[in-house]
Amino acid sequence: MAGGWAGYRVMTMSYQSINPYNGKLLKKFKELSDKQLETALKTAAAAYETWRMKSFAERAKVVTRAGAIMKMRLNDFARPVTLEMGKLIDQARGEVQLSADIIEYYAKNAERFLAPQPLAPLVGEAEILSTPLGVLFGVEPWNFPYYQLARFAAPNLMAGNVVMVKHAGCVPQCAIAFEELWLEAGAPQGVYTNLLISYDQVNRVIDDPRIKGVALTGSVAAGQAVAARAGQNLKKSTMELGGSDAFIVLEDADLEQTVKWAVWAKMNNTGQCCVAAKRFIVVESLADAFLEQFQKALGGLQPGDPMDPATTLGPLSTEAALVTLLDQIKRAVAQGAKLVLGGHRIDRPGAFMEPTILTNIEPSNPAYREEFFGPVALFFRVKNEDEAVALANDSEFGLGGSVFTRDVARGRRVASRVETGMMFVNHPTWTSPELPFGGIKNSGYGRELASLGIQEFVNKKLVRVAPIDAAA
Ligand code: NAP
Repeated sequence: MAGGWAGYRVMTMSYQSINPYNGKLLKKFKELSDKQLETALKTAAAAYETWRMKSFAERAKVVTRAGAIMKMRLNDFARPVTLEMGKLIDQARGEVQLSADIIEYYAKNAERFLAPQPLAPLVGEAEILSTPLGVLFGVEPWNFPYYQLARFAAPNLMAGNVVMVKHAGCVPQCAIAFEELWLEAGAPQGVYTNLLISYDQVNRVIDDPRIKGVALTGSVAAGQAVAARAGQNLKKSTMELGGSDAFIVLEDADLEQTVKWAVWAKMNNTGQCCVAAKRFIVVESLADAFLEQFQKALGGLQPGDPMDPATTLGPLSTEAALVTLLDQIKRAVAQGAKLVLGGHRIDRPGAFMEPTILTNIEPSNPAYREEFFGPVALFFRVKNEDEAVALANDSEFGLGGSVFTRDVARGRRVASRVETGMMFVNHPTWTSPELPFGGIKNSGYGRELASLGIQEFVNKKLVRVAPIDAAA
């Protein structure tokens, strides 16, 4: 399969924990040898043969235990998140809790979601069964080091699949902790496997006939590479990619409340969320007041140790992430954008970036179409609701989005007109186990979470029973 994957890096990469708060290397991990990878694939394939035969109740026992362990040891799980990618410690705890909730949600609901669906044929009987596919492969990002894994693993393990995961290079300790969780919960070896592997090995895993489906959460470039490879192998895939979500403020919004949500929507996880608000689109009559209050609130955040609960501005995940953002800002300004706040690295050790607001971004500016993955807000002024919707839709992305208005019917109307996978009214886009998550356009395809998320990697098998005496 070498031919179809031109243009992307095939390189040996390293798995390293580096604390972005101070740049210190915490730990390095070796990649698997090809022989170790083959053993892991064999073990997973064998585990599938027994795991698929277990009842929902048996699988739920293990999965429920995994959720309970995460909750019981919330702080132990939260610490490496903060150490490896700089998430504020309270937010890291929140992520552990959310991941455990997702795990428990599927333990509780999977059997109901996958129950046989009777059909009503003209004669005889028919039903749709939901049966597992086999060993699945996930490629996951660092920004929510457990939540992303829980979204993929919990529904699929409950469906009777087994999973192998290549996690991001900068969060190996979280990746390993999550694998150990499943073993501790009583999952047989091979039911959940963490793979510290190179891009080249990623390709070989996708090509491997034992792998029956591929899920990726990450950037558009990674999605294109992995989806193409899965496509060449005619393997089902889901893609959860980037976004440039609109945060629409209409003239009848509650300004004070909206600004509070704007700060949260921009700064949660230091702006490193696929569904962070990235484009603030404000109707003229509120624009000046909104901008003034938003700027003041962002400017008041205090950089510091993300382990300290008093810190309100943590570092970015890596030095490389900071350099990328600074470069994007420089290019945006060179093309006519105006910096009204921030725009620079903070003068202290670590990957700290000033909260930033850019205005005057014309459609010809590269910033108009790019995703800014960090504490950078793009601010746009529009005349009215129609202009707001048109601007929101003028994007290659279509992940989430939000609209703020005191008129809920109007909010629903705007939500129905914005071309994205998820729209929230009077709340920033966010996630919960029972709400489906995913996008359209360059934000990918397929859904995770809720009942939709567990249907992606199951065989919807028709079983038709004809009457015994049916005429041939
Ligand atoms: P990324 O560079 O695409 O990395 C994501 C994962 O893909 C990592 O495990 C990475 O491995 C791997 N990867 C990257 N290129 C690859 C390739 N060519 N072949 C095989 N594996 C490859 O993304 P990121 O910058 O870490 O994460 C941020 C992006 O993810 C943003 O665009 C964000 O919006 C998106 N995201 C989307 C969602 C969603 O649900 N829609 C959720 C979170 C994040 P290495 O780390 O080893 O390079």
